[in-house]
Amino acid sequence: MIDQNALFIDGALSPAHAPERIEILSAATEEVIGRAPAADEDDVDAAVAAARRAFDDPRGWSAWSPDDRAAAIERLADELEARAPQLTELVSSQNGMPIAIAGTLESGLPATVYRYYANLIRTTELEQTRPGVLGGRAIVRQSPVGVVAAIVPWNYPNLVTALKVAPALAAGCTVVVKPSPETVLDSYVFAEAVAAANIPAGVVNIVPGRASTGSYLVSHRDVDKVTFTGSTTVGRQIAKTCGELLRPVTLELGGKSAAIILDDADLTANIEGLFQATLLNNGQTCVLNGRILVPRNRFDESLEVFAGLVNGAVIGDPLDPSTQVGPLVTDAHRNRVEAHIARAKDDGARVVAGGGRPAHLDRGWYVQPTLFSDVDPSSPLAQEEVFGPVLALMPYDDVGQAVQIANDSAYGLAGTVWTADEAHGIQIAEQIESGTVGVNYYMLDPVAPFGGIKASGLGRELGPEGLAACMRTHTTYLSTSA
Ligand code: NAD
Repeated sequence: MIDQNALFIDGALSPAHAPERIEILSAATEEVIGRAPAADEDDVDAAVAAARRAFDDPRGWSAWSPDDRAAAIERLADELEARAPQLTELVSSQNGMPIAIAGTLESGLPATVYRYYANLIRTTELEQTRPGVLGGRAIVRQSPVGVVAAIVPWNYPNLVTALKVAPALAAGCTVVVKPSPETVLDSYVFAEAVAAANIPAGVVNIVPGRASTGSYLVSHRDVDKVTFTGSTTVGRQIAKTCGELLRPVTLELGGKSAAIILDDADLTANIEGLFQATLLNNGQTCVLNGRILVPRNRFDESLEVFAGLVNGAVIGDPLDPSTQVGPLVTDAHRNRVEAHIARAKDDGARVVAGGGRPAHLDRGWYVQPTLFSDVDPSSPLAQEEVFGPVLALMPYDDVGQAVQIANDSAYGLAGTVWTADEAHGIQIAEQIESGTVGVNYYMLDPVAPFGGIKASGLGRELGPEGLAACMRTHTTYLSTSA
């Protein structure tokens, strides 16, 4: 049982002003495993003020050389890696992520993202003099955007924090992070790592809390930029606030991506990749392919392969290294996922595998991985984000139709193409209306921009694009050419 009464603000844990506590439950045991303050407006004011002071300090973080910031960010990566067992166990307990993947996704990859941005800021040209076409010249300078508010969801708390904090720190920004109430405990380990890395006071501040904490932070007068990962509904509210304030915002929102299986794809050889693309983290991953499109002449064979994948998944305690599918994050979320399953049945879809709760687990918010066929591409199951281990297999007659079904979505975040011919796979991938697509594989790479189009969001994280999103551009015009 972890009992936190303090908040990480201005470089140290100090008592929270808020009397309200968040109870954090284990997704597998349903027991309370920790308590932490739900930051109130005074706490957010203190965190933003600390970030503002740290940013405005003329000899502070934003004025440090890129090399010095890079060294500090690398220390943070080291400190996070040193705490990997603690971090991953907390994440798995809170949100049900199988520990077998938590090591890579919640510890290794975040550290890689910090190191990537440390390297990038060392080599990024922050000032350019451009010869003008009107006889003069222009100096174009990049400077940090200021105080960044980073709002993160529960499904990959540490990775999503890294996607936001790493480029912000590299740029010279200071940050206020708001973790999701379901996954607060790991944010205290992150705070410990920040302090151990000697990141100066006020550069990173953490205010766990619910929606009200987040919305107060988003509209705070001293915040210069907002970066949000979460649902499309909340993303729209944040976009509205930022629109009124004309405040830059990056939004990583929901998805309903499709896997297109081409007629030459070897499903059995790609089974691990297909599992990752469809069921990773118990289906609680924004980029997953809940729609699987297969050639009509391979429908029965594909149904058998996917039924095998779904039925064969080892369901159980997320802390057991052999578990492939753990529980969902909360009771409320399981209710939502079960409502999607019930609705799909009512709409006439056929359950091929799963469809209920695993009989051998009498506690924890488990749902069996579930496969549907006979799914109408316009039905809610094919159109709405489920955010659980629920798949819909649908036939297509030609590749053009597969692309059309894939693109018939309000969302545009990810997708995959499976084929023996990579060049053909790339051609199809480029026709998919989404921010990212994988061919025979899907994994975010720190070098490349990640993000969505349509209802999946605005802007990009990762890559130089993610750094640019934490910068402001300043131009000085000069009348002379040299
Ligand atoms: P959510 O939108 O309910 O909450 C996300 C975060 O926003 C939490 O910290 C929450 O407390 C906070 N929040 C809630 N209401 C707010 C408000 N009005 N103002 C400010 N902050 C507010 O989402 P969730 O249920 O935590 O996460 C699941 C969703 O996140 C899914 O839709 C999933 O697709 C999406 N997601 C997207 C990506 C991506 O990169 N595109 C990655 C992970 C998750």
